[in-house]
Amino acid sequence: MKRIRKFIIIALSFTMLFITSCSFSDNENKTISKDTFMLDTLINVTIYGSDDEALIDKAFEKVNDLENILSVYKENSELYNIKLDAGIKGTKVSDETMNIIEKSLDFYHKTNKAYDITLGPLIELWDKCRETETLPDEETIKEFLHLVNSDKIKIDKKNNIVTLEEGMFLDLGASAKGYIADVLKTYLKENGVKNAIINLGGNINIIGSKLDSTDFNIGIRDPNSDAGSYLGVLSVSDTSIVTSGDYERYFEKDGKRYHHIIDPSTGYPVENDLRSVTIVSENSLNADILSTSVFLLGLEEGMEFIENMNAVEAIFVTKDKNVYVTKGLKDKFKLTNEEYIYND
Ligand code: AMP
Ligand code: MG
Repeated sequence: MKRIRKFIIIALSFTMLFITSCSFSDNENKTISKDTFMLDTLINVTIYGSDDEALIDKAFEKVNDLENILSVYKENSELYNIKLDAGIKGTKVSDETMNIIEKSLDFYHKTNKAYDITLGPLIELWDKCRETETLPDEETIKEFLHLVNSDKIKIDKKNNIVTLEEGMFLDLGASAKGYIADVLKTYLKENGVKNAIINLGGNINIIGSKLDSTDFNIGIRDPNSDAGSYLGVLSVSDTSIVTSGDYERYFEKDGKRYHHIIDPSTGYPVENDLRSVTIVSENSLNADILSTSVFLLGLEEGMEFIENMNAVEAIFVTKDKNVYVTKGLKDKFKLTNEEYIYND
């Protein structure tokens, strides 16, 4: 039996690089991989040991359907309707949307109000500023800050109704990709997929291991370099890996970086010692919410937060090029860029 050795490097996302090297026999040597642009980012699904392309097409359809429910920027989405009804009446939502909102509220409390999905108006403001590379005026920030407060989200669980005050709207940008990655994982597994990688703009969800039963190698992005450069490699199977970083969506003005993770206590991008946080957790929704939450908390508080959680690990990269890795990743993470200092 002829053995083939493959080395594939796929730099699909702004966040992560995925590297794998597989050996397998000809009859197992079926890999299908497709890219598309959705969720405002590049997405890819790669299935090993299958040539059923329709599965990936169906998965992409699911992404599209879920984006049409969860994105506040899609007309007639549930989030769009909540915004439209704010100050007028409550909005009926699906169980899925209700679950994500409830989970978000849980993290709002756990992060001492740093993780706040009512940041919608300020997130939209900063998105526009990024396009024009101009700073918002302070008055507008102050005005919009009055609309930010998750305590004001009213939830009628029995009837699945969400009510907001006038002018408020919700943004699930920090969690939707994670939720969708979980849905795709379930869908592919239900359809017999045993080895696959779902990559939603760097939000990675892995099914199983490589075909030779070894771990996949995931490159962790070097925040100081281009997409495609990594500072270390994480070897893992059957888990989700999600990174939040200040290099994902940002602009620079007068030497200062304005990125996309907003501190609800100031209305400005959060400022602390971190460049990026990578979360490793089986559940991708958790990993996504956690990556943003921990980025908001900063190194010390964020590290404590993660160490107090079960079955969740993290990699922190600081502005002074230190890399901190939680205990559970000691044997799984390898720093490859010598400019960085390893700490465990
Ligand atoms: P991520 O890349 O997963 O960290 O998510 C970043 C996205 O989360 C942003 O683009 C916003 O849509 C949203 N976001 C920004 N700041 C916050 C915050 N403090 N709490 C919750 N969501 C936020
Ligand atoms: Mg996130």
